Amino acid sequence: MSGTVNDGRDIGREMYDLAGKIFPICRSITGNGVRETFRILDEYIAEDGIRFNIVEVPSGTKVLDWTVPKEWAIRAAYIEDEGGNRIIDMNDNNLHVLGYSIPVDKWVTLDELKECVYTQPDQPDVIPYVTSYYKERYGFCMSQRQLDSLPEGKYHLYIDSSLFDGSLTYAEAVIPGETDEELMITSYSCHPSMANDECSGMVVVPALIRYVQSMKNRRYTYRFLLNPETIGALTYLSFNMDHLKAKLKAGVVFSCVGDDRDYSIIHTRYGNTLADRSLTSVIRGREHYSEYTFRDRGSDERQYNAPGIDLPVVSFCRTKHDVFPEYHTSADNMDMISPEGLYGTYEVMVQWIQCMEANGKYKITVLGEPQLGKRGLYPTVAQKTNYDGIMVMRDIIAYADGTNDLFDLSAITGVPPYEMLPIIKSLTENGLMTAEEMVNI
Ligand code: ZN
Repeated sequence: MSGTVNDGRDIGREMYDLAGKIFPICRSITGNGVRETFRILDEYIAEDGIRFNIVEVPSGTKVLDWTVPKEWAIRAAYIEDEGGNRIIDMNDNNLHVLGYSIPVDKWVTLDELKECVYTQPDQPDVIPYVTSYYKERYGFCMSQRQLDSLPEGKYHLYIDSSLFDGSLTYAEAVIPGETDEELMITSYSCHPSMANDECSGMVVVPALIRYVQSMKNRRYTYRFLLNPETIGALTYLSFNMDHLKAKLKAGVVFSCVGDDRDYSIIHTRYGNTLADRSLTSVIRGREHYSEYTFRDRGSDERQYNAPGIDLPVVSFCRTKHDVFPEYHTSADNMDMISPEGLYGTYEVMVQWIQCMEANGKYKITVLGEPQLGKRGLYPTVAQKTNYDGIMVMRDIIAYADGTNDLFDLSAITGVPPYEMLPIIKSLTENGLMTAEEMVNI
Protein backbone atom coordinates (compact mmCIF):
# COMPACT_ATOMS: atom_id res chain seq x y z
CA MET A 1 0.00 0.00 0.00
CA SER A 2 1.33 3.40 -0.89
CA GLY A 3 1.62 6.10 1.71
CA THR A 4 1.02 8.79 -0.87
CA VAL A 5 -2.18 10.65 -1.61
CA ASN A 6 -3.06 12.93 -4.44
CA ASP A 7 -1.23 16.09 -3.46
CA GLY A 8 2.08 14.26 -3.43
CA ARG A 9 2.67 14.17 0.32
CA ASP A 10 3.83 10.84 1.72
CA ILE A 11 1.42 10.91 4.64
CA GLY A 12 2.44 7.50 6.01
CA ARG A 13 6.03 8.72 6.30
CA GLU A 14 4.94 12.09 7.74
CA MET A 15 2.98 10.36 10.49
CA TYR A 16 5.82 7.95 11.25
CA ASP A 17 8.33 10.80 11.50
CA LEU A 18 5.96 12.74 13.75
CA ALA A 19 5.65 9.67 15.98
CA GLY A 20 9.45 9.53 16.12
CA LYS A 21 9.51 13.11 17.42
CA ILE A 22 7.03 12.55 20.24
CA PHE A 23 8.14 9.00 21.12
CA PRO A 24 11.03 9.99 23.47
CA ILE A 25 8.96 12.47 25.52
CA CYS A 26 8.09 11.37 29.05
CA ARG A 27 4.32 11.83 29.16
CA SER A 28 1.89 11.09 31.94
CA ILE A 29 -1.73 12.01 32.66
CA THR A 30 -0.51 15.54 33.47
CA GLY A 31 2.67 17.52 33.07
CA ASN A 32 5.05 19.18 30.68
CA GLY A 33 5.60 16.02 28.63
CA VAL A 34 2.00 16.29 27.47
CA ARG A 35 2.32 20.01 26.76
CA GLU A 36 5.52 19.50 24.75
CA THR A 37 3.82 16.72 22.76
CA PHE A 38 0.84 18.95 21.94
CA ARG A 39 3.22 21.75 20.90
CA ILE A 40 4.84 19.44 18.33
CA LEU A 41 1.51 18.18 17.02
CA ASP A 42 0.19 21.74 16.86
CA GLU A 43 3.17 22.73 14.70
CA TYR A 44 2.25 19.95 12.31
CA ILE A 45 -1.38 20.99 11.83
CA ALA A 46 -0.42 24.67 11.70
CA GLU A 47 1.02 23.91 8.26
CA ASP A 48 -2.60 23.82 7.08
CA GLY A 49 -3.61 26.87 9.05
CA ILE A 50 -5.38 25.17 11.90
CA ARG A 51 -4.39 25.10 15.57
CA PHE A 52 -5.28 23.08 18.62
CA ASN A 53 -7.17 24.67 21.44
CA ILE A 54 -5.10 23.66 24.49
CA VAL A 55 -7.18 23.50 27.66
CA GLU A 56 -5.83 23.37 31.23
CA VAL A 57 -8.12 22.01 33.95
CA PRO A 58 -6.89 22.73 37.51
CA SER A 59 -6.00 19.94 39.94
CA GLY A 60 -8.84 19.34 42.37
CA THR A 61 -11.60 19.98 39.81
CA LYS A 62 -14.47 17.53 40.31
CA VAL A 63 -15.15 15.64 37.10
CA LEU A 64 -18.13 13.26 37.33
CA ASP A 65 -17.17 10.74 40.04
CA TRP A 66 -13.48 11.66 39.88
CA THR A 67 -11.15 14.53 40.78
CA VAL A 68 -8.42 15.96 38.55
CA PRO A 69 -5.21 14.82 40.29
CA LYS A 70 -2.15 16.79 41.21
CA GLU A 71 0.27 17.49 38.40
CA TRP A 72 3.39 15.34 38.24
CA ALA A 73 6.83 16.70 37.37
CA ILE A 74 9.70 14.27 36.92
CA ARG A 75 13.28 15.49 36.63
CA ALA A 76 15.47 12.45 37.31
CA ALA A 77 15.18 8.80 38.28
CA TYR A 78 17.91 6.21 38.61
CA ILE A 79 19.32 3.37 40.70
CA GLU A 80 23.06 3.18 41.21
CA ASP A 81 25.31 0.63 42.90
CA GLU A 82 28.06 1.19 45.46
CA GLY A 83 30.56 1.84 42.69
CA GLY A 84 28.40 4.71 41.37
CA ASN A 85 27.33 2.75 38.28
CA ARG A 86 23.81 3.56 37.11
CA ILE A 87 21.92 0.25 37.01
CA ILE A 88 18.95 1.95 35.39
CA ASP A 89 18.31 5.58 34.44
CA MET A 90 15.13 7.14 33.06
CA ASN A 91 17.32 9.05 30.63
CA ASP A 92 17.92 5.72 28.88
CA ASN A 93 14.24 4.74 28.91
CA ASN A 94 11.50 6.66 30.66
CA LEU A 95 9.62 3.41 31.39
CA HIS A 96 12.24 2.83 34.13
CA VAL A 97 10.35 5.13 36.50
CA LEU A 98 6.94 4.15 37.89
CA GLY A 99 4.52 6.76 36.57
CA TYR A 100 3.58 9.35 39.22
CA SER A 101 6.40 8.27 41.57
CA ILE A 102 6.94 10.45 44.61
CA PRO A 103 10.57 11.43 45.37
CA VAL A 104 13.04 9.09 47.04
CA ASP A 105 16.73 9.36 47.93
CA LYS A 106 18.03 6.45 49.99
CA TRP A 107 20.38 3.48 50.12
CA VAL A 108 18.75 0.03 50.34
CA THR A 109 19.69 -3.65 50.30
CA LEU A 110 18.98 -5.84 47.28
CA ASP A 111 15.93 -7.32 49.03
CA GLU A 112 14.57 -3.84 49.78
CA LEU A 113 15.22 -2.81 46.18
CA LYS A 114 13.15 -5.74 44.94
CA GLU A 115 10.15 -4.45 46.87
CA CYS A 116 9.91 -1.34 44.71
CA VAL A 117 10.94 -2.76 41.32
CA TYR A 118 8.35 -3.96 38.82
CA THR A 119 9.19 -6.54 36.14
CA GLN A 120 7.33 -8.62 33.57
CA PRO A 121 8.40 -12.17 34.55
CA ASP A 122 6.74 -13.85 31.55
CA GLN A 123 8.67 -11.55 29.18
CA PRO A 124 12.05 -11.38 30.95
CA ASP A 125 13.74 -9.04 28.47
CA VAL A 126 11.28 -6.13 28.47
CA ILE A 127 10.71 -3.19 30.80
CA PRO A 128 7.04 -3.06 31.80
CA TYR A 129 4.97 0.15 31.83
CA VAL A 130 3.56 0.64 35.34
CA THR A 131 1.83 3.62 36.97
CA SER A 132 0.38 4.57 40.33
CA TYR A 133 -1.72 7.66 39.75
CA TYR A 134 -4.06 7.50 42.68
CA LYS A 135 -1.89 6.06 45.47
CA GLU A 136 1.30 7.88 46.35
CA ARG A 137 4.35 5.62 46.13
CA TYR A 138 7.68 5.42 44.36
CA GLY A 139 8.94 2.67 42.15
CA PHE A 140 11.13 1.56 39.28
CA CYS A 141 10.70 -0.81 36.33
CA MET A 142 13.33 -3.03 34.75
CA SER A 143 13.64 -6.31 32.91
CA GLN A 144 13.36 -9.48 34.95
CA ARG A 145 16.70 -10.57 33.49
CA GLN A 146 18.41 -7.43 34.75
CA LEU A 147 16.88 -7.77 38.20
CA ASP A 148 18.00 -11.41 38.41
CA SER A 149 21.55 -10.38 37.50
CA LEU A 150 21.98 -7.87 40.34
CA PRO A 151 24.48 -8.99 43.01
CA GLU A 152 23.96 -8.56 46.75
CA GLY A 153 25.00 -5.13 47.92
CA LYS A 154 23.77 -1.62 48.61
CA TYR A 155 21.82 0.35 46.04
CA HIS A 156 20.99 4.03 45.83
CA LEU A 157 17.36 4.73 44.88
CA TYR A 158 16.95 8.25 43.55
CA ILE A 159 13.87 9.98 42.13
CA ASP A 160 13.61 13.75 41.81
CA SER A 161 9.93 14.44 41.24
CA SER A 162 7.07 16.49 42.61
CA LEU A 163 3.30 16.34 42.87
CA PHE A 164 1.67 19.76 43.08
CA ASP A 165 -1.50 21.69 42.36
CA GLY A 166 -1.21 22.25 38.64
CA SER A 167 -3.51 21.15 35.86
CA LEU A 168 -4.54 18.45 33.43
CA THR A 169 -3.97 19.37 29.79
CA TYR A 170 -6.00 18.35 26.77
CA ALA A 171 -6.07 19.45 23.14
CA GLU A 172 -9.04 19.81 20.84
CA ALA A 173 -9.67 21.07 17.35
CA VAL A 174 -13.15 21.66 15.97
CA ILE A 175 -13.63 22.14 12.23
CA PRO A 176 -17.10 23.39 11.41
CA GLY A 177 -19.24 21.95 8.63
CA GLU A 178 -22.53 22.91 6.99
CA THR A 179 -24.44 21.43 9.93
CA ASP A 180 -23.74 21.37 13.64
CA GLU A 181 -24.06 17.59 13.73
CA GLU A 182 -20.71 16.17 14.73
CA LEU A 183 -18.30 13.36 14.10
CA MET A 184 -15.58 12.95 16.72
CA ILE A 185 -12.17 11.32 16.53
CA THR A 186 -10.17 11.04 19.73
CA SER A 187 -7.08 9.41 21.19
CA TYR A 188 -5.04 9.62 24.37
CA SER A 189 -1.88 11.40 25.38
CA CYS A 190 -0.72 10.00 28.71
CA HIS A 191 1.70 7.16 27.93
CA PRO A 192 5.47 7.58 28.02
CA SER A 193 7.67 6.04 25.31
CA MET A 194 5.45 3.52 23.61
CA ALA A 195 4.86 3.69 19.89
CA ASN A 196 1.73 1.73 19.03
CA ASP A 197 0.06 2.42 22.36
CA GLU A 198 -0.01 5.52 22.04
CA CYS A 199 2.08 7.61 19.64
CA SER A 200 0.20 6.04 16.72
CA GLY A 201 -3.16 7.52 17.70
CA MET A 202 -1.64 10.90 18.43
CA VAL A 203 -0.17 11.19 14.93
CA VAL A 204 -3.11 9.87 12.90
CA VAL A 205 -5.41 12.42 14.58
CA PRO A 206 -3.45 15.49 13.34
CA ALA A 207 -3.06 13.94 9.88
CA LEU A 208 -6.85 13.58 9.74
CA ILE A 209 -7.29 17.14 10.98
CA ARG A 210 -5.31 18.25 7.94
CA TYR A 211 -7.40 16.02 5.68
CA VAL A 212 -10.71 17.36 7.02
CA GLN A 213 -9.42 20.92 6.83
CA SER A 214 -8.65 20.33 3.14
CA MET A 215 -12.13 19.01 2.27
CA LYS A 216 -14.02 21.33 -0.06
CA ASN A 217 -17.44 20.56 1.42
CA ARG A 218 -18.21 19.27 4.87
CA ARG A 219 -21.67 18.31 5.97
CA TYR A 220 -20.50 17.43 9.46
CA THR A 221 -18.67 19.42 12.07
CA TYR A 222 -15.55 17.51 13.13
CA ARG A 223 -14.32 17.34 16.69
CA PHE A 224 -10.80 16.06 17.32
CA LEU A 225 -9.67 15.45 20.85
CA LEU A 226 -6.44 14.31 22.50
CA ASN A 227 -6.58 13.80 26.25
CA PRO A 228 -5.10 11.63 28.97
CA GLU A 229 -6.88 8.29 28.93
CA THR A 230 -9.74 7.79 31.42
CA ILE A 231 -9.33 10.93 33.57
CA GLY A 232 -9.11 13.11 30.44
CA ALA A 233 -12.23 11.60 28.87
CA LEU A 234 -14.07 11.94 32.18
CA THR A 235 -12.94 15.55 32.43
CA TYR A 236 -14.02 16.28 28.87
CA LEU A 237 -17.38 14.61 29.41
CA SER A 238 -18.02 16.48 32.61
CA PHE A 239 -17.92 19.75 30.64
CA ASN A 240 -19.21 18.64 27.23
CA MET A 241 -21.55 15.72 27.77
CA ASP A 242 -24.77 17.61 27.09
CA HIS A 243 -23.38 19.07 23.89
CA LEU A 244 -22.13 15.69 22.68
CA LYS A 245 -25.42 14.01 23.55
CA ALA A 246 -27.25 16.58 21.44
CA LYS A 247 -24.89 16.75 18.47
CA LEU A 248 -22.66 13.70 18.18
CA LYS A 249 -23.68 11.33 15.38
CA ALA A 250 -20.68 9.01 15.62
CA GLY A 251 -17.29 8.92 17.28
CA VAL A 252 -14.14 6.82 17.08
CA VAL A 253 -11.47 6.31 19.75
CA PHE A 254 -8.03 5.38 18.40
CA SER A 255 -6.01 2.86 20.37
CA CYS A 256 -2.93 1.13 18.93
CA VAL A 257 -3.40 2.13 15.30
CA GLY A 258 0.15 1.95 13.93
CA ASP A 259 0.96 -1.73 13.35
CA ASP A 260 0.00 -3.51 10.16
CA ARG A 261 -1.37 -6.79 11.45
CA ASP A 262 -5.15 -6.31 11.69
CA TYR A 263 -8.08 -3.85 11.56
CA SER A 264 -10.29 -4.05 14.63
CA ILE A 265 -13.42 -2.45 15.98
CA ILE A 266 -14.59 -2.55 19.60
CA HIS A 267 -18.33 -2.02 19.51
CA THR A 268 -20.54 0.17 21.65
CA ARG A 269 -22.41 -1.48 24.50
CA TYR A 270 -25.12 -2.87 22.29
CA GLY A 271 -23.27 -2.61 18.97
CA ASN A 272 -26.22 -0.96 17.25
CA THR A 273 -25.25 2.67 16.59
CA LEU A 274 -24.32 4.41 13.37
CA ALA A 275 -20.71 4.37 14.58
CA ASP A 276 -20.82 0.57 14.84
CA ARG A 277 -22.46 0.02 11.46
CA SER A 278 -20.36 2.52 9.55
CA LEU A 279 -16.89 1.59 10.78
CA THR A 280 -17.60 -2.15 10.59
CA SER A 281 -18.75 -1.67 7.05
CA VAL A 282 -15.52 0.10 6.09
CA ILE A 283 -13.08 -2.35 7.75
CA ARG A 284 -14.90 -5.35 6.28
CA GLY A 285 -13.30 -4.38 2.99
CA ARG A 286 -9.85 -5.17 4.41
CA GLU A 287 -8.08 -8.49 4.07
CA HIS A 288 -7.97 -9.01 7.86
CA TYR A 289 -10.42 -7.52 10.28
CA SER A 290 -11.71 -8.32 13.76
CA GLU A 291 -14.82 -7.34 15.67
CA TYR A 292 -14.93 -7.21 19.46
CA THR A 293 -17.86 -6.61 21.74
CA PHE A 294 -17.91 -3.92 24.40
CA ARG A 295 -16.86 -6.57 26.89
CA ASP A 296 -13.40 -6.35 25.27
CA ARG A 297 -13.24 -2.58 25.93
CA GLY A 298 -10.03 -0.99 27.10
CA SER A 299 -9.74 2.68 26.23
CA ASP A 300 -11.93 5.78 26.39
CA GLU A 301 -14.89 4.01 24.79
CA ARG A 302 -15.43 2.86 28.40
CA GLN A 303 -16.42 6.40 29.41
CA TYR A 304 -18.38 7.37 26.28
CA ASN A 305 -20.49 4.23 26.57
CA ALA A 306 -21.06 4.27 30.32
CA PRO A 307 -24.73 4.03 31.36
CA GLY A 308 -26.36 7.44 31.21
CA ILE A 309 -23.68 8.80 28.88
CA ASP A 310 -24.50 6.39 26.05
CA LEU A 311 -22.71 8.15 23.22
CA PRO A 312 -22.29 6.44 19.83
CA VAL A 313 -18.53 5.98 20.13
CA VAL A 314 -16.61 2.88 19.04
CA SER A 315 -12.92 2.08 19.35
CA PHE A 316 -10.69 1.43 16.40
CA CYS A 317 -7.42 -0.50 16.68
CA ARG A 318 -5.13 -2.17 14.19
CA THR A 319 -4.21 -5.04 16.53
CA LYS A 320 -6.22 -4.74 19.74
CA HIS A 321 -4.10 -3.66 22.69
CA ASP A 322 -3.94 -6.85 24.74
CA VAL A 323 -3.55 -9.07 21.68
CA PHE A 324 0.00 -8.00 20.84
CA PRO A 325 2.70 -9.16 23.26
CA GLU A 326 4.64 -5.88 23.12
CA TYR A 327 1.67 -4.05 24.73
CA HIS A 328 2.64 -1.90 27.74
CA THR A 329 6.32 -2.81 27.53
CA SER A 330 9.54 -1.35 26.17
CA ALA A 331 9.12 -3.68 23.16
CA ASP A 332 6.35 -1.34 21.92
CA ASN A 333 8.99 0.81 20.24
CA MET A 334 9.25 2.50 16.87
CA ASP A 335 9.73 -0.91 15.21
CA MET A 336 6.18 -1.83 16.26
CA ILE A 337 4.70 0.76 13.93
CA SER A 338 5.36 1.62 10.31
CA PRO A 339 4.40 4.23 7.71
CA GLU A 340 2.27 1.55 6.05
CA GLY A 341 0.52 0.62 9.30
CA LEU A 342 -0.28 4.24 10.13
CA TYR A 343 -1.38 4.89 6.58
CA GLY A 344 -3.74 1.91 6.70
CA THR A 345 -5.53 3.58 9.61
CA TYR A 346 -5.51 6.95 7.88
CA GLU A 347 -6.96 5.42 4.72
CA VAL A 348 -9.73 3.60 6.60
CA MET A 349 -10.67 6.83 8.35
CA VAL A 350 -10.67 8.84 5.12
CA GLN A 351 -12.96 6.21 3.60
CA TRP A 352 -15.14 6.37 6.70
CA ILE A 353 -15.36 10.15 6.50
CA GLN A 354 -16.23 10.05 2.79
CA CYS A 355 -18.93 7.45 3.42
CA MET A 356 -20.37 9.34 6.39
CA GLU A 357 -20.47 12.54 4.38
CA ALA A 358 -22.32 10.86 1.50
CA ASN A 359 -24.58 8.72 3.62
CA GLY A 360 -28.34 8.86 3.33
CA LYS A 361 -31.36 6.65 2.98
CA TYR A 362 -31.57 6.03 -0.71
CA LYS A 363 -34.74 5.90 -2.73
CA ILE A 364 -35.17 5.15 -6.42
CA THR A 365 -37.30 7.70 -8.27
CA VAL A 366 -38.94 5.51 -10.95
CA LEU A 367 -41.37 2.63 -10.76
CA GLY A 368 -40.10 -0.66 -12.11
CA GLU A 369 -36.51 -1.20 -13.13
CA PRO A 370 -35.04 1.93 -14.67
CA GLN A 371 -33.69 1.77 -18.20
CA LEU A 372 -29.99 2.30 -17.55
CA GLY A 373 -28.82 2.18 -21.15
CA LYS A 374 -30.66 5.29 -22.30
CA ARG A 375 -29.10 7.22 -19.44
CA GLY A 376 -25.59 6.12 -20.38
CA LEU A 377 -25.03 4.47 -17.05
CA TYR A 378 -23.42 1.23 -18.16
CA PRO A 379 -20.10 2.60 -19.41
CA THR A 380 -19.52 4.68 -16.30
CA VAL A 381 -19.40 1.65 -14.05
CA ALA A 382 -15.94 0.38 -13.24
CA GLN A 383 -15.56 -3.38 -13.43
CA LYS A 384 -13.96 -4.96 -10.42
CA THR A 385 -12.41 -8.38 -10.34
CA ASN A 386 -14.34 -9.53 -7.30
CA TYR A 387 -17.82 -8.41 -8.30
CA ASP A 388 -19.78 -7.30 -11.26
CA GLY A 389 -20.27 -3.52 -11.23
CA ILE A 390 -23.53 -3.72 -13.16
CA MET A 391 -24.94 -6.21 -10.70
CA VAL A 392 -23.94 -3.95 -7.82
CA MET A 393 -25.76 -1.07 -9.45
CA ARG A 394 -28.84 -3.23 -9.96
CA ASP A 395 -28.70 -4.40 -6.35
CA ILE A 396 -28.41 -0.83 -5.09
CA ILE A 397 -31.45 0.11 -7.20
CA ALA A 398 -33.36 -2.95 -5.99
CA TYR A 399 -32.81 -2.10 -2.32
CA ALA A 400 -33.08 1.69 -2.61
CA ASP A 401 -36.56 1.70 -1.12
CA GLY A 402 -36.00 4.51 1.34
CA THR A 403 -35.21 2.29 4.30
CA ASN A 404 -31.53 1.47 3.65
CA ASP A 405 -28.49 3.68 4.03
CA LEU A 406 -25.05 3.17 2.53
CA PHE A 407 -23.98 0.77 5.26
CA ASP A 408 -27.15 -1.30 4.99
CA LEU A 409 -26.58 -1.53 1.24
CA SER A 410 -23.00 -2.58 1.85
CA ALA A 411 -24.18 -5.35 4.17
CA ILE A 412 -26.73 -6.51 1.58
CA THR A 413 -24.39 -6.47 -1.42
CA GLY A 414 -21.13 -7.41 0.31
CA VAL A 415 -19.44 -4.50 -1.46
CA PRO A 416 -17.42 -2.03 0.63
CA PRO A 417 -19.38 1.21 1.03
CA TYR A 418 -16.62 3.41 -0.39
CA GLU A 419 -16.65 1.34 -3.60
CA MET A 420 -20.40 1.93 -3.97
CA LEU A 421 -20.02 5.70 -3.72
CA PRO A 422 -19.21 6.35 -7.41
CA ILE A 423 -22.23 4.24 -8.43
CA ILE A 424 -24.52 6.07 -6.01
CA LYS A 425 -23.14 9.37 -7.23
CA SER A 426 -23.94 8.59 -10.86
CA LEU A 427 -27.42 7.35 -9.96
CA THR A 428 -28.22 10.50 -7.99
CA GLU A 429 -26.69 12.78 -10.62
CA ASN A 430 -28.91 11.11 -13.20
CA GLY A 431 -31.94 11.80 -11.07
CA LEU A 432 -32.63 8.11 -10.62
CA MET A 433 -32.10 8.14 -6.90
CA THR A 434 -32.55 10.52 -3.98
CA ALA A 435 -30.67 10.41 -0.69
CA GLU A 436 -32.53 11.55 2.35
CA GLU A 437 -30.27 12.79 5.08
CA MET A 438 -30.25 10.60 8.08
CA VAL A 439 -31.96 11.91 11.14
CA ASN A 440 -31.89 10.53 14.64
CA ILE A 441 -30.01 7.34 14.03
ZN1 ZN B 1 -2.14 1.77 27.29
